[in-house]
Amino acid sequence: MTRRVALVTGGSRGIGAAVARRLAADGFDVAITYRSAGDRAAALVKEIEAAGGRAVAFRAEAAEARAQAEVVERTVRELGRLDVLVGNAGIAPYGPLEEVTLAEVDELLAVHARASFLLAQAAARHMRAGSSIVMIGSSLADRVPYAGWTAYAMSKSALIGLTKGLARDLGPRGITANLVSPGSTDTEMNPADSEGAEEERALTALGRYCSPGDIAAAVSYLAGEGARAVTGATIPVDAGVTA
Ligand code: NAP
Repeated sequence: MTRRVALVTGGSRGIGAAVARRLAADGFDVAITYRSAGDRAAALVKEIEAAGGRAVAFRAEAAEARAQAEVVERTVRELGRLDVLVGNAGIAPYGPLEEVTLAEVDELLAVHARASFLLAQAAARHMRAGSSIVMIGSSLADRVPYAGWTAYAMSKSALIGLTKGLARDLGPRGITANLVSPGSTDTEMNPADSEGAEEERALTALGRYCSPGDIAAAVSYLAGEGARAVTGATIPVDAGVTA
């Protein structure tokens, strides 16, 4: 049987690494990208290979427009095809509204919104019926329970329109596009033992952080056979912070 191929951006650590591990365990060959943690991406490739899978890692800066189509083309060149795109690479600068710089606003929009559009556009050229696009958004695109996150929330809310539009553009070809919206998730971006973590936990229905594996399980579902009728949807995996 032909092996299916997944591309996960920002796969060197955190949620992206958990998604890459999970999709590899599901039987996908996996390409991951990173910005600076090449050593960690290489270690994950080795780990997946040691478990009997196939993986490759590329450096690709999400803020660079041209790099997005390049990473898709490279994935297809090295792994032969593309069945699943997971747009996950992200950053989380925050702070008082009056201190947010133009450079920060531009970077957030480039990394979260523009890169996701360009990746999906390039991926769609290679995808066949049965393929899936899954973007990683944020619960902050739905509810913003703290100050200091306006620009981040704006950049992540763009992914709601992106995935709905993609669902309509690509539905006739049998390709799905969905959004997974994590709440507080225990990664280096937002450690569960950081100052402020208790406040985040208290805002959830379940009184807990999500694990990267919780987010990966939703991606695995959306990339799998069981979700072939799901498209244009947002799936919150947020311990109930938006309940
Ligand atoms: P993380 O632990 O900080 O990992 C971020 C990943 O993205 C790394 O692989 C990093 O590569 C890559 N990356 C960052 N900026 C990049 C850029 N400009 N170009 C290319 N790659 C870049 O973050 P995470 O918590 O796993 O977050 C993953 C996604 O989930 C993000 O989109 C984030 O906004 C979203 N999210 C996270 C939470 C949370 O509480 N953790 C909640 C909601 C949504 P390097 O390792 O090379 O730096």
